[in-house]
Formats: sequence, structure tokens, C-alpha cells
Amino acid sequence: MLKAAKIVVLPGDGIGPEVAAAAVRVLKAVTGSSGLQLELAEGWIGGSALDRCGEPLDPKSLDLCREADAIFLGAVGGPQWEHLPGPKRPEAGLLRLRKELGVFANLRPFRSRPSLYARTPYRDEVLAGVDTILVRELTGGIYFGAKGSDGEKAFDECVYTRTEIERITRVAGQLARARGKKLCSIDKANVMETSRLWRKTVTELMASEFPDVAVQHILVDAAAMYLAQKPARFDVILTENMFGDILSDQASTLAGSLGLLPSASLSAEGPGLYEPVHGSAPDIAGTGRANPVGAILSMALLLRHSLKAEVLAQQLEAAVERVLADGPWTAEIAPHAFASTHEVTEAILGALKV
Ligand code: NAD
Repeated sequence: MLKAAKIVVLPGDGIGPEVAAAAVRVLKAVTGSSGLQLELAEGWIGGSALDRCGEPLDPKSLDLCREADAIFLGAVGGPQWEHLPGPKRPEAGLLRLRKELGVFANLRPFRSRPSLYARTPYRDEVLAGVDTILVRELTGGIYFGAKGSDGEKAFDECVYTRTEIERITRVAGQLARARGKKLCSIDKANVMETSRLWRKTVTELMASEFPDVAVQHILVDAAAMYLAQKPARFDVILTENMFGDILSDQASTLAGSLGLLPSASLSAEGPGLYEPVHGSAPDIAGTGRANPVGAILSMALLLRHSLKAEVLAQQLEAAVERVLADGPWTAEIAPHAFASTHEVTEAILGALKV
């Protein structure tokens, strides 16, 4: 018999447990008769870990994660823990988890859907055909460089090595090869040394390992403009940590709701970490208004990237698309006639059977 896939679920805080429960139900349903066995375990991160063990990442849960095939996370944070010092805040648990797992490649797919055009600030012709994956380097660059301040002067050092750039380029190159064979690398090579190394390394590696993929380089300021003006021109975007952080939030506005967006964070060979892009949304926690789609689509990415179950990933995504096309929708999408988290999850479970 095949070994069961070990998946650790970290529900976290706020709407995290609500969307995690929905995503686990859908994962169980889609794998049910497929022969893919799952071994699910639950762990503690964020405020829920602080309340249980005084640390934002429960050490036993971290051990479980290290031995898992994949990790699913709901969301962390909330007002009740905001007074705590930096290293004790819920978000510190998530940063530590990403670092411990070495998940350097953050994949954020985003797309437009005609049924949701009206929920965005863009015109229909701008949104038509948007279907992109943004690949963000997650463990290097300015967020991880030396920092300092004497109160009058402050600095944040930005460092990238050729090796760090090569490994993220390979991830983006493979994705581009499997999709439209178009890669757009975003940097600030007219000003920054790290960007000049980035551009040179991407150019060389793509030419030698992915000669079948067309590569374009765009400066980050121009990329921000194109993302709002002509987003459909992008297929796979590759960029460094801070530019990816900013551009992925901008890109999320094209989808119509933060609650729809999934993400995957991949390491060289260890388990991947999958989480919806949104936070713990304390304003709607406990009201049944959380959109479960970002979490459910994150499970599709888990099936694809960690369990290599592409057919199941596509079945799940097709079921979600059927529901997003005709409803039911949660309140942030359909404020006057909305369905609950439970009802949208039921609709997706129903669409899986079609
Ligand atoms: P947020 O993403 O939680 O919420 C922003 C807005 O989007 C809110 O109005 C919220 O109601 C809405 N929203 C978010 N997810 C939704 C969903 N699934 N369905 C419907 N509406 C949804 O961001 P915030 O309010 O800035 O932060 C709240 C807390 O979450 C903070 O403690 C923050 O640090 C934390 N946070 C955690 C993560 C994470 O766990 N990865 C990411 C971002 C923020």
C-alpha cells in the first residue's frame, strides 16, 4: 500500500480555523476515492500557540511540520496579541516557520473572472484574460539583511547571492515552461547592484537551462504601471522579496477579493507551506462571513506541488471556478445576497461531484 501523505494543519487565529476547516473538508472530499491516503495532524501557531504554550510557534508543532509532506496554515494575528513585543507577536511564529522550513519560493497565482469584474476597481477590458503567477523570492534581500538605527540614521542592507537568484529562477523557469513559456523578471537594475546581479543571473540561467522560454526584464516602477494598465501581458512574473511583497498586493486587486487568493511557499526539498494570502480578519471572525476560496485553492496548490496530484488539483480548481462563476458568493463579493462560509464550502463540495 502507498504511504499516506502527512499533512499538518495549523489553523491559527481569527478566521484561520474557519477557512482551514473548510479547506480540509474539500481536501478530504477530492482525495476520497482517488487512492491518495492522507494522514492529517493539527498544530498551533500565532495567538492560539501563545495562549497554549507562551510561544508564537509551538515547538511540538514545528517538529510535526518538519516531518510532514506539506503544511497548511489558516492565518495568524489579532488585536488581543497586538500589545506583545515583536518576538512574541503571532506574526513572529509565521516568520520563524518560513525560515525553519527554508521556503524560499513564494508562488502567488492571481486571475480575473468575468463574474467578479464589478468587484474590482478596473474596467472590463483591463481585466480580460488576466491569469498570472507571481514568483517572489521569500528568504533573501532587504528584509533579511543587516539593519541598524542610532535614532538619526537608519539602514537596511539588501544582499542577494548568485545561488539564491539561480534557485528561484529555476522555480519560475519550470512554471513558465509548463504554462505560456513567457517569463517576466522585475528588478531595479538601473539603480541597484543587487538588481544588476539579479538581471545578469536570470539572463544567463534562462538562456542555458530554459532556452524555450521567452524572457523579458522590466523595471519595478514600470511593472507597477503595467500591472494596472495591461495586466494580461504577464504570464509568470519573477521578482525579489520586497518588490514581490508590494506587487503581489497590487495584483490582488485584480481578483476582486483578498479572500480568493491562495499561495504556496516551496523549499528545495522539504515540505511546502500553503496558506491563503489574507490575514486573520478579526472584523469578521465568528460571523460565518469568511470567504473559504483562498484557503481551498491553497489546498489545490498543495495537491499540485507537494503531493504531485495534478489531476486532483485541477478537479478542485474546476469546482471552485464553477461556484465563482454562478455563486453562491460570500459577503465581501455579494453584500446584498450573500452565503456563509459553510454554504460556499457546500457548493464547492457539490461542484466536485459534477
Ligand atoms: P486581513 O487580511 O485579515 O483583512 C483585511 C480585510 O479583508 C478585512 O476587512 C477582512 O474582513 C477582509 N478579509 C480578509 N480575508 C477575508 C476572507 N477570507 N473573506 C472575506 N473577507 C476577508 O488583514 P488585516 O485586517 O490587515 O490584518 C488582520 C490580522 O491578520 C493582523 O493581526 C495581521 O497581522 C494578520 N495578518 C496575518 C497574515 C497571515 O497570517 N499570513 C497576513 C496578513 C495579515
